[in-house]
Amino acid sequence: MKIWVFAEDAGGSPASIALEMLTKARSLGGDVAAFFVGPGSDSIWSALGSHGAATVHHLDPGNALPSAAAAAALADLVGAGDLVLFGLAPTDRDVAGRLSARLGVPVLSNAVDIVVGDGVSAVNEILGGTTLVETLFTGGGPHLVVVRPKSFVAESGSGGTPEVIAVPMPDLGHAGSATIVERHEEPAQGPKLSEASVIVSGGRGLGSAEKFGMIEELASLLGAATGATRAIVDSGWVPYAMQVGQTGKIVKPTVYIACGISGAMQHLVGMKDSTTIIAINKDEEAPIFGVADLGIVGDVHKVLPKLIEALKAK
Ligand SMILES: Cc1cc2nc3c(=O)[nH]c(=O)nc-3n(C[C@H](O)[C@H](O)[C@H](O)COP(=O)(O)OP(=O)(O)OC[C@H]3O[C@@H](n4cnc5c(N)ncnc54)[C@H](O)[C@@H]3O)c2cc1C
Repeated sequence: MKIWVFAEDAGGSPASIALEMLTKARSLGGDVAAFFVGPGSDSIWSALGSHGAATVHHLDPGNALPSAAAAAALADLVGAGDLVLFGLAPTDRDVAGRLSARLGVPVLSNAVDIVVGDGVSAVNEILGGTTLVETLFTGGGPHLVVVRPKSFVAESGSGGTPEVIAVPMPDLGHAGSATIVERHEEPAQGPKLSEASVIVSGGRGLGSAEKFGMIEELASLLGAATGATRAIVDSGWVPYAMQVGQTGKIVKPTVYIACGISGAMQHLVGMKDSTTIIAINKDEEAPIFGVADLGIVGDVHKVLPKLIEALKAK
């Protein structure tokens, strides 16, 4: 079976989700190829190769919006027996949807695992991650699966430099006429949320936007990234980029510190797989304590300043 992994450029490297999917694809055996969209470079080919891609098909769309071109090019490349993996990320999802429509095949989304046996199945978490459901493709392929970030750990193996095959830009006529005229990157301090090994997150229990400063101060002392619940993102206290959860980022740090967060299922979905969860909440019945390894029943306005003071005194 040929396994394709969609890989988008993320500021000069392959998106981390692509390296996670390549690691999984490598473990499934078969012929693993990456479909890379972006300018490309030797270091990108080497990262894709070491994570499992024997071949890289390279499409450089320049300033054109990449999804329509990528879907058209992939439609010409993939065959009926192939498995094509996309990440749960904006361009990946756009391409998966377009490819599904072009080829008239279904796409299974939000997978946390892939099982290849007599057929191909995607595994999904339901009921807040308490139950796993395996869905088998029964019709003809190619089989398209959208994978949730952090479902697999990206590990480079012994793979060498892949063969790089340039993919010509398809002629899409009017459908391909949209171009990118400007890029805006949200300025961020400290480690990236989705890759951080320590995360300090705040929720509505902080009481006001100004009090998120305590989260930032604690995070800076710990070299951590900052996260948030949707409640405070929706209230405009912090930007959406910080949201952890079902409709935000899925994170898997070594330590996750939840401050004034109730532990709604939609938040838990995004952080419950953290190695150690520490929760501070004044309500001892708060659901967050159900997943916490260490729980502090207390007022964040008293606990956090003490914690910050203790760390500063070190
Ligand atoms: C379709 C859908 C998708 C969603 N996606 C997400 C998502 O991706 N991420 C997400 O986070 N949510 C998501 N939500 C929202 C989610 O259901 C909750 O509303 C949200 O997570 C609650 O945020 P919170 O814990 O900050 O606020 P609350 O639920 O209001 O909890 C505040 C907590 O702070 C505690 N507290 C209050 N004062 C203090 C204090 N002084 N000291 C200590 N503790 C205190 C309270 O006891 C309470 O437990 C989604 C909802 C829907 C319907």
